[in-house]
Amino acid sequence: LMRLYGPLTSLSNVHVDVMTALVSFDRVFEVLDLKPMVAEKPDARPIPPGPVTIEFDDVRFRYPAAAEVSLASLETVARPETGEPAQVLNGVSFTARPGELVALVGPSGAGKTTTTSLVSRLYDVTEGAVRLNGVDVRDATLGSLRDTVGVVMQDAHLFHDTIGSNLRYARPDATDEEIWEALRAAQIADLVHSLPDELETVVGDRGYRLSGGEKQRLALARLLLKAPDVVVLDEATAHLDSESEAAVQKALKTALRGRTSLVIAHRLSTIREADTILVMQDGRVAERGGHEELLAEGGLYAELYRTQFTGAA
Ligand code: ADP
Ligand code: MG
Repeated sequence: LMRLYGPLTSLSNVHVDVMTALVSFDRVFEVLDLKPMVAEKPDARPIPPGPVTIEFDDVRFRYPAAAEVSLASLETVARPETGEPAQVLNGVSFTARPGELVALVGPSGAGKTTTTSLVSRLYDVTEGAVRLNGVDVRDATLGSLRDTVGVVMQDAHLFHDTIGSNLRYARPDATDEEIWEALRAAQIADLVHSLPDELETVVGDRGYRLSGGEKQRLALARLLLKAPDVVVLDEATAHLDSESEAAVQKALKTALRGRTSLVIAHRLSTIREADTILVMQDGRVAERGGHEELLAEGGLYAELYRTQFTGAA
């Protein structure tokens, strides 16, 4: 766990928050994935468990001036040294109903990652509202938000620890059998079985080195163990070999089934399966609809399709 201190202390403006959480050793993964830099209201209420409708209601957003680093991606972002931070979302509205898959596509910098980070209330909106089953996320308890929303970002964060512990961060009381079940569903059980220490195998830089596809599948196993009602996912762009690509695809399908999902989609297969595709540009939803419908419109989506998605599936 000490290895975390290097990278995290460099996130100067957010590290205090993260450190506080680390001291209590409270679900370290979710600290990285969706620890919000926001406070719980004294009269906050829980989001009731069960099928969830996600609603973005004319959401406008500018990053707080202090946020130099996006915790969602752990990426350092360039921003102007002076002046008000630019508005990143300029009125985003959409609804994802229970069990629906909404895919976000669009050029880099369009606001896709920012949009997904607001679902778990990593930040507060500047104007408008994000609601889960009608509850404004600003009125929800942070605990219920954390339980409701499961996040898998592009670079799955695994800790220098055993595979079993890495998964138990999602649900400390999980039995070995439940862990194996999640590993099977995520198409990674065979690999874990093949390791001499199985669940006790230490992964990470100084342990067993997992490939990108393997890390993703472990992250999906963790998500399945947590079984959240809402899934927020940034699909990996990195090219996987075709075998692991197929395995990841299958794991994804299982992870998203029956859950309300908001996915930054890079794979044509995911995009085709989406109930709604939101094409983002300049912090707005420029186009929305199904794959065939959007192709027929011959607009931005059709262009993205030609330049990005063909061959990626
Ligand atoms: P996308 O995921 O579509 O590539 P992002 O949501 O990551 O787009 O970024 C949208 C805009 O917000 C970009 O101009 C980006 O530079 C800016 N941005 C992203 N994260 C931060 C941050 N933590 N602080 C300030 N600006 C940010
Ligand atoms: Mg992004």
